[in-house]
Amino acid sequence: MLKNSGTSVPSLSVPERLLLGPGPSNSHPLVLEALSCQPVGHLDPFYIDLMAEVQGLLRDVWQTSNRLTLPMSGTGSAAMEATIANIIEPGEIFLVGINGYFGNRLADMASRYQAKVRTIEKPWGEAFSLDDIESALIKYKPSVFALVHAETSTGVCQPMQQIGDLCRRYDCLLILDTVTSLGSIPLFLDEWKVDLAYSCSQKGLSCPPGLGPFTMNKRAEEKLNNRKGKVPNWYLDLSLLNQYWGSDRVYHHTAPVNMNFGIREALRLIVEEGLENSWDRHRTNAEALWNGLQSMGLELHVKEELRLPTLTTVKIPNGIHGKSFTQHLLNNFGVEIGGGLGELAGKVWRIGLMGYNSKRKNVDKILDLFESELPKFKG
Ligand code: PLP
Repeated sequence: MLKNSGTSVPSLSVPERLLLGPGPSNSHPLVLEALSCQPVGHLDPFYIDLMAEVQGLLRDVWQTSNRLTLPMSGTGSAAMEATIANIIEPGEIFLVGINGYFGNRLADMASRYQAKVRTIEKPWGEAFSLDDIESALIKYKPSVFALVHAETSTGVCQPMQQIGDLCRRYDCLLILDTVTSLGSIPLFLDEWKVDLAYSCSQKGLSCPPGLGPFTMNKRAEEKLNNRKGKVPNWYLDLSLLNQYWGSDRVYHHTAPVNMNFGIREALRLIVEEGLENSWDRHRTNAEALWNGLQSMGLELHVKEELRLPTLTTVKIPNGIHGKSFTQHLLNNFGVEIGGGLGELAGKVWRIGLMGYNSKRKNVDKILDLFESELPKFKG
């Protein structure tokens, strides 16, 4: 007897959710339509053209002209790991700015690739100053410096002016994590002199999770080309992937073609809206959320100048069990918000307004829920 053969399994029924947490966000209906098309072969001429379109659109939303720009198969962490695996050689000094959970992940990954990891740290909820960064570059002389642009664990947006200039002055490559900023917050990779960056599909791009956009400039490519040893990760090796995404079209792995249909549609929608209009929409809706929460007497964790439009951290008032409230919203209203991560676990809620979900209607919905439901949790 074959195990379970012939038994009836109910067909899939996914509950409806409004995802207002740290990600994923809900996908745009047109993206879902694109995902549901029949696949084509990953070397089909149609698909080859689509790959070039996706690369071009990614360059637009990142404001870069980097040749080597592509969506890695995998989530944001795969793209994060690709930056590290390709750029670090054993024994090199890798400096990471840690002011939240994802800085720690970068440090952990770099240590696995045998970098000598050095860190500069700031309290969770603050950003790095140019002085902080310059002192660390002088002290540690790293070959690579990594920063998180939008720290999803804290709700801080790192100001980027002049950091790239500093890195060039001290002969160091700059990596920027743009997982919670791509498509939704001003990002000027070339102007900011960022050498490598990565992101995800499931937040500002209004696509499901599954792709990790990645980009590197000529300076980074040069370092990759002059490596002493092979990239110690076959799947994420950009010199191999480039043979598929570049002009040679050599098979590397079977591309997740439907995810690429989806991201093409997602990027097309952003360009159609206008990048600046998308940035403004995120800002306006976030400000409405901040004002609404504060007018209920709630406190925000990050000062206004550093606040991320995509992710707001709200302090959990004394006497309230944060997790019971998030569970209540999910179970009774189908609305997801996030709890705190790492050091901020139990201290904040995280409310995301990303991509398709950055809408006034959703701001009003979550404010109404806080107003009607939170009092039920007070002692
Ligand atoms: N970096 C940041 C800032 C993130 O917020 C996340 C995930 O939320 C990641 C990296 C990892 O991305 P993923 O969960 O898509 O692997």
